[in-house]
Parts: sequence; structure tokens; C-alpha cells
Amino acid sequence: MPALAVRTTCPYCGVGCGVTATPQPDGTLAVAGDAAHPASLGRLCVKGAALGETVDLRGRLLQPAIREQGELRDTDWDEALGRVAGGFRRIIDEHGPDAVALYVSGQMLTEDYYVANKLMKGFIGSANIDTNSRLCMSSSVAGHKRAFGEDIVPGCYEDFELADLVVLVGSNAAWCHPTLYQRILAAKAERPQMKVVVIDPRRTATVELADLHLPLKPGTDTWLFNGLLAYLARSGAADPGFVERHTDGLDAALKVAADCADPVAVARACRVDPALLLEFFELFASSEKVVTAYSQGVNQSSAGTDKVNGIINCHLLTGRIGRPGMGPFSLTGQPNAMGGREVGGLANMLAAHMDLDKPAQRDAVQSFWGAPRIASKPGLKAVDLFRAVEEGRVKAVWIIATNPVVSLPDADQVRRALDRCELVVVSDVVANTDTNDFADVLLPALAWGEKDGTVTNSERRISRQRAFLPAPGAARADWQVLCEVAQRMGFDGFDFASAHAIFDEHARLSAWRNEGERMFRLDGLAGMSRREYDELEPVQWPVMSKGEGSTRLFGDGRFAYADGKARFVPIVPRAPANATDQDYPLALNTGRVRDQWHTMTRTGKAPRLSNHVPEPFVDMHPQDALASGVREGELARVSSRWGEMVARVQHGGGIARGSVFVPIHWNGQTASHARVGALVNPVVDPVSGEPEFKHTPVCVQPF
Ligand code: SF4
Repeated sequence: MPALAVRTTCPYCGVGCGVTATPQPDGTLAVAGDAAHPASLGRLCVKGAALGETVDLRGRLLQPAIREQGELRDTDWDEALGRVAGGFRRIIDEHGPDAVALYVSGQMLTEDYYVANKLMKGFIGSANIDTNSRLCMSSSVAGHKRAFGEDIVPGCYEDFELADLVVLVGSNAAWCHPTLYQRILAAKAERPQMKVVVIDPRRTATVELADLHLPLKPGTDTWLFNGLLAYLARSGAADPGFVERHTDGLDAALKVAADCADPVAVARACRVDPALLLEFFELFASSEKVVTAYSQGVNQSSAGTDKVNGIINCHLLTGRIGRPGMGPFSLTGQPNAMGGREVGGLANMLAAHMDLDKPAQRDAVQSFWGAPRIASKPGLKAVDLFRAVEEGRVKAVWIIATNPVVSLPDADQVRRALDRCELVVVSDVVANTDTNDFADVLLPALAWGEKDGTVTNSERRISRQRAFLPAPGAARADWQVLCEVAQRMGFDGFDFASAHAIFDEHARLSAWRNEGERMFRLDGLAGMSRREYDELEPVQWPVMSKGEGSTRLFGDGRFAYADGKARFVPIVPRAPANATDQDYPLALNTGRVRDQWHTMTRTGKAPRLSNHVPEPFVDMHPQDALASGVREGELARVSSRWGEMVARVQHGGGIARGSVFVPIHWNGQTASHARVGALVNPVVDPVSGEPEFKHTPVCVQPF
């Protein structure tokens, strides 16, 4: 009898494509796009299509382990969990709740995330839980909250197809959000009059689709969007009625933007051709249906939140938001960065979009949880958290589903921090990672295909990830492990029997004491039976009644602030925190390649994915290579004030003079001296805490 196909969701990028997975009699897995999934309509990119080649147990962590006399030895769950619960309890008793921390991940399912946040904020009583989503979209979160009063993406993927103009800012969607890019490509083929503008210092694969490419100087986006705001205001493109009824603060924003009123001066600041800049301004002004989508090129900056608000300001001025084919749109990096935001996985959020600094909301969450305490101030954001570990202020850290020794900026500092930490607990699916090397307790987790729960994609769509493979070895779901540790620490409220029970509590919390002041609502998903949860179709929140999601928000001009109005944010442009100089003359930009995901623990298993880019490289302009004394095809040492790595020199990535590009994926397990995170400056955006991955001064020398 043929095996049944299981409908699930891809575990990689924030597009959140639907996948059908069919275990085969020979033990392999057949994977195809799910034509019924509204986010992807049957499409899969090469990474999603290769999922079946990545589910074997090579390299998996299958047994708990604890470190004794410097060596890890296998053990059972009882001893491992006793070590975790006992260690956390002792350190909290001796040093207080802020002496422990969780560092979690946008790879986790919403249910895992929910339990982690509940344990830390409501029962341990500290907000020291942060997530690697801090590294990819926290600037968008902060920008949304400043503009809209809540962290909300107003539109949906269909808007990209309906738009007359799609502006992609700091986004190589062709490689990083491929099936969404394919939707834009198909829409443009059907309506050739549709225009696409790509704003990116690099000439990426995405530029192939563009009618116009603005290769702006790295870090100058705020000059560009202030210039656009000033241009829109004087060109008659503003919507005065919308601005008057639905917004606040335009005068202050325009006053600051007046410094960017001269397009020629803006073009000079952004180092782009003034004619191209004006062409973009005119296109934006004359196109009613505009989607401006932004990703890590905007977020990963010491001015990331300002860049997000600079973009949103232009949409508010023209009233182009919340209606079909228009709006600002944050392209989320990870598969469940959005779900993590919903449950409060960031150190400065509470749960269900409630705020730590609002006493009534703190009280609501505490009473709903029946928690003995509740965190009352923001916890440490990712970069600060690992600084606190190195300084001994945080003495125990539990890292779940992420690899900070590779992925954080100044990654050698993270190494030093973990080396000094009293208790390092790591939950992972992989046996050998750069972070596992520092674990005192290693806990085996379930991987994609084995775990069960939900994720939320970039368009607010909640989809099920379904289990279709048996749990291997002793691996367990993260939520189960978190609940058991909580119970061993003496906390009630963690006797969940299933992911379904956790989701139900999460949905009920969204409606708890919510008289309409928060738009994140899952009322229609509360009280689902186990069967309804198992059969849940992808749905966009808010979900106020059963089966009814919300395609777009703000269409009625009502935003999440108490007065219902959106806010313009005055943006004072500022350059990246660290300028290039004589010793470090090149600006390092980091990012993804098409066929790999994060630190390659899954995609690295599929040979056809590794063939695309087989080793780490530094892409640079031929004249910069000449000036640096390196040649294409040779190994080079790339150094910054924080660290160094070795990579092979290549040209041809469309990089401008003065910049270099290095991919993020390689790590100490795949190639020695290949962690680009070791070079990245640990500067963060003062509002969001997101690191400046797109601009670190470096030099390149012969190896
Ligand atoms: Fe997976 Fe993203 Fe590719 Fe879709 S586009 S298949 S979600 S990696």
C-alpha cells in the first residue's frame, strides 16, 4: 500500500512554503510542493526540494550527554535533566534570576518557544531570554512598533503580484526568498508594465529581474528614503486626507527630511547616479500600488530601525498601506521568527504582543499563567547577553537550536564567554557544532519531520509542521524537555500533554484581557480539538473566528496605537558605526548563498546543494584585489579588529569597489578558520539591538 503524503511546512526561510512529504518503502523521503498551501502554491526552491536528502541520521545527536573532567559522556534523561534543573536552581538561589539565561532560535516551533518564554519570564522571573531572531529581524519589530503601535506586517504575498511597483531593499530575494521571487517573476511576465526596483549595494541575482538597480553606498538607505519622503511631499503624491485622519507626526519627519530635499545631494551621499535616483523617485510617486519589501540589508545595521521607519514613512505619506497591492513588507529570514515574536521570544517583549513596561499587561500575563512572579524589565539582548556571560553576570545559559559560536558577531568573544560560563546547556539535533564543544550538558532534540507544531511565516500565516518520522534515539521535543526542567525546578503550569495543548494556551492568552488594544488575536483557534489542530489549514492572524484569517491589516486606517493613528518617525541619517580606514579599508558585507541554510547542518548533507558553492569565499572587486595583493582563486586572509578568517578570492559577484562579501554558512566543523562571525563588529542598533552584519571594516591579505 503506498504511503500517505503528509502536508507540512519547509523548515528554512520565512516564506514558509507548503511541503508534501511521503516516506518511501526503501526508507527515503519523497518531497514535493504543496499546491494547496497559499504561501507557495506548489512551489519549492532547491533547498526545499532537497529536504528528502537531509533527513538521515548521519551526524545526529541521539543521546543526552554530560561533561565530566573535560569529557562528554553519554547518559540518560534523568541524570541530564537533573543536572540542568539542579544547576539552574542553585545559581538562581545564590545569585538571583538574572544570573541565568535562555538563548533560543527562529528554528523552534511556536509551541517550544511559548514554553521557553513562559518558564523564563513567568516562573524564573527574568526576561533573560533572547533569540537568534535578534540577528535578523528585530529592527523590523522595533520599526513596526514605533510606526503602528504593534509588531505587524500589514500585507500578504499576493500584494507582490498585484503591485504596479515592487521595491526590494537590501533583499536578495532570488536566493533568500526564492519562491516569493518566483511569484514576482511570474506576475511581471504576465503584466510586463509592472516595475521592479532593487536597492542593494551588490548586483545580486535579484537584479536580473529589475527594471532599475540602485547600487547605493552601504549604509545610506536613510538618506535615500528621507530624500524620497521630501520628494513625495512636494510632488503631489501625498494623501493629505489619509495623513490627517490616520497618522501623527508628519511635520517633524518632514522637517528632518528637508535636509535631504535636494536629489542631487542625496545621490551624492548614496553614491548613485542622480538620474537613476530621480527615476526611482518618479516611479514611486506615480505608482499607486507600491510594495516596498526589505530584508537583512535594512535590518542588520546600527541604524536598522531608522531604515525601517524611513521606508514606512513613505507609505504613510502616500496612504499606501493595508490595501491590495501596496504596503511596506518585512521579509523575515527564519521559518518561525514571526512565531517567536508572537509568544514573546525576544528579551524586550512579553507574550501575545504584550509589553514588559505596561503593568496592566504584565499583570494579565502573570494572572493567566498563575505565575509566582513576572519579569518586570527587559532582559539582555543577544550581544549583551554573551557579554554578560563573559563578565560572569550570567552564570548559566541554555542554548536551544542555534549555534552562536558561529553566528553571533565577534564570535570569538562568544567562545570566550562560554568557556568561562559555569553551566552551558545545549539542545540541538546535531552532535558536533562549534557551540556543542562548550556544552556541560547536551540534550538531543527532534528535527524537522520528527517534531510537531506550528510556525508563522512573513505574511502572518500560521502553518503546521507535522511529524511523519519516528523520534530517533533518545531525542525529545524541546517543549517536553523545557516542561520537565520546569517541573523539576518546582514550577506548576507545565503539565502539557502535547503541542496541541500548548497551542491552545497560546491562543487563549492572545484574547486574555484584550479589549481590542492588541491586534494579535487567535480567538478563532482557541478551543480546537486535537483533530482540528492536526488538520489546521494555513491561516493568517488575527483569527477572530474559526477558519477566518486576515489577509491584510490597517485597510480601515486604524492602527494599534490607542488613538488608532500611525506615527511618522523623524529619521536623522547616520553612517555605519565603524568607518573604514587605512588599516581596514574595505567594508565587509555578509549574507547567504542560494543553496545553503545557516550553518549548513542540514543543507550540508545534500551533495547537490554543496556543489553550488563548495567552500567559503570572499567576493571583491578586481581592483581592490589588486590593491590588496591577492588574486582570484587564491586563498586570502580577511581580518578585522575583532578576528580573522581564510577564504578563497573570487570576483563576479557584482560588488562595488570598497566592499567585500563573505557568506555566513561555513563554520569550524566544515572548514577551519571559516567563521565570518569572528570578524563582524559587535555594534548594534540602539533601538532594536540588532547587530551591524552588513558593515565591518576589514582588510584582505595574501594567505
Ligand atoms: Fe523553503 Fe524558503 Fe525555499 Fe520555500 S523558499 S522551499 S520556505 S527555503
